[in-house]
Amino acid sequence: MKETLCQYLACPECSGELTLKIDERDGEEILSGELACAGCGRAYPIHSGVPRFAPVEADEHQRETAENFGAQWLEFDHLGEHHEQQFLDWIAPVRPEFVRDKVVLEGGCGKGRHTRLIGRWGAEAVIGVDLSQAVDAAYWNTRDLPNVHIIQADIYRLPVKRVFDYAFSVGVLHHLPRPADGFASLVGRLRDGGSVSAWIYGLENNGWIVNFINPVRKHLTSRIRPRLLYYLSWLPTTILYLLLKLIYAPLGNSRLRNRLFYADYLGYISRFPFREIHNIVHDHLTAPVAFYISRDEFESWFRSEDLEAVEIYWHNRNSWRGFAKRPSASHAEAVHAK
Ligand SMILES: [Zn+2]
Repeated sequence: MKETLCQYLACPECSGELTLKIDERDGEEILSGELACAGCGRAYPIHSGVPRFAPVEADEHQRETAENFGAQWLEFDHLGEHHEQQFLDWIAPVRPEFVRDKVVLEGGCGKGRHTRLIGRWGAEAVIGVDLSQAVDAAYWNTRDLPNVHIIQADIYRLPVKRVFDYAFSVGVLHHLPRPADGFASLVGRLRDGGSVSAWIYGLENNGWIVNFINPVRKHLTSRIRPRLLYYLSWLPTTILYLLLKLIYAPLGNSRLRNRLFYADYLGYISRFPFREIHNIVHDHLTAPVAFYISRDEFESWFRSEDLEAVEIYWHNRNSWRGFAKRPSASHAEAVHAK
């Protein structure tokens, strides 16, 4: 970790100030040491360059998810060119210019693919949080960027202050045991006037996954050892990949294609390389928990946090993306005064 991270950190238990003790460093990087809380006396270790905030107390399912995905993230350690566009599609209407000079928080950073992009787009600072061992990959994927920080922590107990200009989470909240609480936790770290983006699996149009893929995932594939599943998932990936390249891709955005099964989404991913398709298939087979969330339910998350300027859109007609702002302090006071 970099010393500049300290200004954003707070004890996840009591919000107290943390004091940094360095044991080992490599130039600007602190490789090992400790963050001690002046408030409650707890201490959080830093090892292999990453501050570690108690993953042990997390819910069993949540830990299992983190472990399965962690294994995936170490296997799928690759940053392709189409990832930037894909990321922008998930956080629309946010553009790279939007994050410039902002302090950004990512809930569920995996191996740091998006954390790295936010850093490259000129954020003042970006902090990627993940519960899994994928933080080790994320650390190595981002440590050359001085404005990028990675921490291992539970999204429900974020060890950061309420200072963020922008928080986002893509493809993670629906894998939490309590998705709405994960969203609320991120919003809770925004300063007044800060913004949030989330992208989640939709319930609408996903009946076939809910009814046919989910039971297989739940009762069978999520229980297979991650490394074995990685190889087993080659077979369905190959079948899907051939369908995409032989049928969906050649038809482009034609009327005929749009009459095919799950056309928007399969058309969208038909240009992806094999590796990425493998990643997607594996993703749907490995997660112990996956919720498919209706638009109404997604909207209720934004309402319960009193967010304003809420924009919710379909993405490929199978998922939802939302963007909103936390009211500014003056607005909040005005509402309160009414
Ligand atoms: Zn404390």
